[in-house]
Amino acid sequence: MTETLGPGDEELVRVATLARQRAYAPYSKYKVGAAIRSKRNKVHTGVNVENASYGLTICAERAAVFAAVGSGDNQLDAIAIVVDGDKLANPCGACRQVLAEFAPDMRVILANTSGGRKATTLSALLPEPFRPESLPS
Ligand SMILES: [Zn+2]
Repeated sequence: MTETLGPGDEELVRVATLARQRAYAPYSKYKVGAAIRSKRNKVHTGVNVENASYGLTICAERAAVFAAVGSGDNQLDAIAIVVDGDKLANPCGACRQVLAEFAPDMRVILANTSGGRKATTLSALLPEPFRPESLPS
């Protein structure tokens, strides 16, 4: 499902684009920036952080979630994810699952530095996440 972008979405893309410049991606050269807006209208950013061991690399989306939660703001409303070039990048499966822990219906805005935009929802990208309710009571 693709939705139309609003002014708030473009602002979130702008913040994610600025954050993207701080990405640490010396190996892949694939810099990603993410900005999460909470329901309190605060914005938390994250970038991908690579590691020489490769497997310890973390995505921008999860870095943004951890920044939000670490600041006590875990009621998430929307995320913008910005990559370089002319393609858009969906969040990976691990990031979808981490996002779904806090906001299974959150708005997801995909963007690139060439002006490409697409708005969707996490529930469209991950329709049946593993949820806290899935755990035995
Ligand atoms: Zn990811």
